[in-house]
Parts: sequence; C-alpha cells; structure tokens
Amino acid sequence: MNTTFINDKKPGVKVSQGMMENVLEQFTDAAQYINLHLDIQKILKITNNEIVIHFPVKMDDGTVEVFTGYRVQHNNALGPYKGGLRYHPTVDIDAARALAMWMTWKTSLAGLPFGGGKGGIQLDPSNYSITELERITRRFTYALGDNIGPDHDIPAPDVNTNSQTMAWMADTFMSTRLPAKRSVNQHVVTGKPDGIGGLEGRDRATGYGVFLSIKKYLKKQNQSLLNKTFIVQGFGNVGYWAANFLEKEGAVLVGVQDASATLYNSQGIDVSSLNDYVNINDKRIGGFPRAEMIDDAHFFQLDCDIIIPAALGNQITEENASNIQAKLIAEGANGPINNNAEKILLKNNVTIIPDILCNSGGVIASYFEWLQNKNGEIWQLEDTLKKLDLKLEESFNSVFHYAQKEGIDMRKAAYCIAIKRIEKAYIQRGLFP
Ligand code: GLU
Repeated sequence: MNTTFINDKKPGVKVSQGMMENVLEQFTDAAQYINLHLDIQKILKITNNEIVIHFPVKMDDGTVEVFTGYRVQHNNALGPYKGGLRYHPTVDIDAARALAMWMTWKTSLAGLPFGGGKGGIQLDPSNYSITELERITRRFTYALGDNIGPDHDIPAPDVNTNSQTMAWMADTFMSTRLPAKRSVNQHVVTGKPDGIGGLEGRDRATGYGVFLSIKKYLKKQNQSLLNKTFIVQGFGNVGYWAANFLEKEGAVLVGVQDASATLYNSQGIDVSSLNDYVNINDKRIGGFPRAEMIDDAHFFQLDCDIIIPAALGNQITEENASNIQAKLIAEGANGPINNNAEKILLKNNVTIIPDILCNSGGVIASYFEWLQNKNGEIWQLEDTLKKLDLKLEESFNSVFHYAQKEGIDMRKAAYCIAIKRIEKAYIQRGLFP
C-alpha cells in the first residue's frame, strides 16, 4: 500500500478540526460577494446524503475488527457525485463533509459534469497487511452497494489509497452486479490501473496540475521556473510528481517534510534520488543521506520562493503563517491553510493558488478516465497531459482574470466562478416538486 504522507506529529491536534468551519466561511464569503440567492446558499451549506457504515472484517490472525467508513455526497446539481476515498485516522464525518464540499467547488470550477463527494475509512493503513486492506476495501465497497455507481457517485484515490485500492473496488462492484451489467460498470471508480480501464497519466495528473498552475502563475508575472527554489510537504503521489515536473523546468527542491522527517539542502535535493530512496524505505524520507535533518517546526519558514503543501489539511495556521518567507503557496493538498492563516498571508502579500484550482488536475484526469471508459476508448499519455493543460489553462485564466478584475484573491475568485455555475444549474432546472 502506498503510504502517502501522514502528518500525525502534533500531539492532540485533530487534522479535520475546523475544516468544516473553513470551507463554510470560504463559501459564505464568496456567496455574499456575488449575492447568491439565499435559498441556494441554504442548499449548498448542507450535504445531500451522508452514509456511515460500520462493517466487520476478518484479520489475518482470525480475529474480527469493526471499521467505520464514510461517504458524503454534498451536491449533484452539475452531475454525479465525484471525489476520493482516503484511509486515515483523521477521517470522520466532519472531514468527509468538508472535503465533499471542496469537491463540489473543484469540479464546478473545472467545468466538469460532476458534483462533489468524499469519504474514506478511519484507519491507519500501516497497521494492516495487504490482504487485510484488500478485504477491508472489498467489504466497504460491498456495503456501499448502490450508493456508488458510474452515473451516480464515482470514488477515486486520495490520501493512502491508490490504483490498487481502485482495482479492488471496481472488481468488487462489478462482481456483485447482475451478469449483463458487470462489464459496463468499470467506471464506477477512476484512478484504476491502466490494464483495467485506468487512464495513462492519471497517476501524475494532480502533481502535473500543481506544476502547471505554478508555471502559469509565474508566466503572468513574466517569470520562469528556472532557479526558483521550492519546498514540498508530503512526498506521496502529489508531492513527488509536482517536484518531478518542477525540477525538469529548472526549479530547485530545497526542503521536504513528511511524517518521518524534515529535510533541507540549500544546494538542492535531487528528486529522483529521493524518490528511489523513499521506494526502498517504506515510503518515508527520513534517513535520506544527501540533506540535513532539521526541526519540523522550521519547515514552512525556510528560505524559498514557493511552498507546496501536498499532504493533509490545516498545516499552515495562525501559529506558523507569519514566519513564512515564500511569496507563493500552491495548494497541492485540500484545505492546507486555515482561514486565520490565510488572512495573515494575504496581508503579507503572499499569493495562494487555491486547492480547488491548483490540485484539480487529478479530478480532471478522472473525468478523462470516465469518458475513456464510457466511450470504450484508450487514450495515450500525451493525450492526457495535453488535454489536461488545455483544461487547466481555461480555469486558471478565468480565476486569474476574475481576481484581477474584481481586486480579490484567487481563492475568492475561484469560489465565485464555481458557485455561479451551480447557481445557473439551479435557476435553469428549478426545484422539484
Ligand atoms: N482525491 C482527488 C481530489 O481530492 C481526486 C478526486 C477524483 O479524481 O475524483 O481531488
């Protein structure tokens, strides 16, 4: 199992804490700014459906453990619910609600025919064997039943889940449908391995999107990536691929943090050497020889041009925001900056490329995978990356120009655009009955 970054370092701090308040405050701020009809505000402030499942699974030693899994479906005004499933101790109903809301804004901003959903299982995957994780995944998928489906709610990978998890889910879902329906259901999940309907390039799509967002932003300032220094929190799928693409264009990785360590090297950390190391070191960066180990608390204040939080939510808070020296933060993770920290950063003229834009490459590629499956096509890697760039160019430009025109920050601009699309759907369709 691919153990993406898990930041459990701060004792007693619940990562999901405040996420709901954060997303609701962001929403309300933008909704008021665009005078969103109060009835639509009422609808969007609450989730449509919340599924909580307690399910038993037999462990390798024969004992039984009961797990709690969540799937929250926030809104489907624009299309089927879409969003990842994460395996992490911080997964709870509040985290799932907030993350589902973020998906609604993300898919809308990207102009996709999807709504927003999110979920996961509250567990630490490093405590379970691969066979246990397979049984946990299959049993959860079975228990979700028709609450997921290729035209209803389409999960995808997220923190600590990957293409293998999606393969188990697709197989379980398809195996438990009527024979005539089995083969037409593979797009019940996206982020599958490429041998079973997965999309070439889906693995790197989120990191590629983070890289593109940074590049597009710098281009607007007449700057390039050459010799720009950056730090990455989390060296999982998002962090690694973002660093990989940035390095190829001449940017220099000077700091990395994960649950095992904080590394720094002012001369640069070679991304592929670090990746090779991580792959033989239980997915952890701790012990990498060609960098200095520094105090965890100093990470975000490192001297660099760009910060990429690519791990969990609530990492940049009022406690560390004022020490940040970088002038650009690109949100690879969902909700990594809390609202109090954001106010400090904006006052200090730090630009934030918001999560719902910056990390939308993943769900955009998921849409391509869904289309590929629906149309019985097989796309090449170049198709994926080229189409992803075009799609991101559109949403990046619309956010950037709206922010400029209105004199507001990019997060608020992104929210305004996303919410207006949903508002339009409600106005055009009306409300049943
Ligand atoms: N988990 C990713 C996200 O937060 C991808 C979701 C998807 O592809 O549906 O955006």
